[in-house]
Amino acid sequence: MRDPAPVVSVVTPAYNEGRNLALLYQRLCQTLGELNISWEWIVVDDHSADETFSVAAELAQRDPRVYVLRFSRNFGSHTALICGLQQASGDCAIIMAADLQDPPETLPVLMEKWRQGIQVVWAVRAVREGEKTSTVAFARIYYSLMRHFVGLKEMPSTGADFFLMDRRVVEALREFRESHVSLLALITWMGFRQTAITYDKQARLHGRSGWNLEKKLKLVLDSVTSFTYLPIRLMSYVGFLVALVGFFYAGLIVLNYLTGHPVQGWSSLMVAVLVVGGVQMLMMGVLGEYLWRALDESRRRPRYIIEDTSQRRFPSEETRESNRVQKAQG
Ligand code: UDP
Ligand code: MG
Repeated sequence: MRDPAPVVSVVTPAYNEGRNLALLYQRLCQTLGELNISWEWIVVDDHSADETFSVAAELAQRDPRVYVLRFSRNFGSHTALICGLQQASGDCAIIMAADLQDPPETLPVLMEKWRQGIQVVWAVRAVREGEKTSTVAFARIYYSLMRHFVGLKEMPSTGADFFLMDRRVVEALREFRESHVSLLALITWMGFRQTAITYDKQARLHGRSGWNLEKKLKLVLDSVTSFTYLPIRLMSYVGFLVALVGFFYAGLIVLNYLTGHPVQGWSSLMVAVLVVGGVQMLMMGVLGEYLWRALDESRRRPRYIIEDTSQRRFPSEETRESNRVQKAQG
């Protein structure tokens, strides 16, 4: 007889989370055990420098429901999630971090909404314990930018990286081949029936956040360039305005010259050269960001490379294949 297909696939990206995984596993077993449903846990080790892979592989050896993959280098948590979702075979998938900031006890609330027919349930942070003011401020600015500038108005204003997706959403997401994109923004953009619940984000148990400033800035640029060309349009507007003022002023200078009052002045010349030069360089930078992404996507490199995995024992290849067929048929 075939093993039961999992109802829930929990997907966790993990970067230097060796000390958190065993506890998260225990809490998952407890919460999902109480719900009495079939589940699997897919951990994607984003090339950690600590014992993350060995800890997860040991859990996988003891419990067939656990499956771990390791990236050949650090690709970032959104890519790790994309990889985990490719493997998910449940009727729904829940994305949660490895650091126990997202309490597994929220899972039944997410699932309750899903059972009511919602296809994407965001767990929005009400309280963020133990976070630096700068982190919270950065998140606020980012989500405000996404809602008001990029136009993804449905994005939760305080942010959400803990959520549930119906398998239809997971299947739809698998069709996307983009590398430089914010997964959360993409899911918001995709539509479906979405809603949000609130939860209190806990303080990190061990280790520290893997999101440094460089990764955050790349996420901002990826998010903006993936969903709007407004910066390019703004460039056209600014360019038009600067050109208009420039031509008008040039006309004035010529007129002054012809009427015998040439304007003297190194200072005004330098101001004009520096301002116009600065604006031009900024614009070239913006264009470059779009152009580089277009070039990089056109290379069609694999989005991630797997270095190692545990042995997949659950659900069996046969069950996964039959699931795939059923899902493809709708
Ligand atoms: N993470 C990852 N790759 C990275 C950075 C983070 O897989 O390059 C994982 C991390 O282990 C955690 C989740 O993504 O499970 C959320 O990251 P983190 O807790 O560092 O972010 P924060 O809570 O500060 O937003
Ligand atoms: Mg965290």
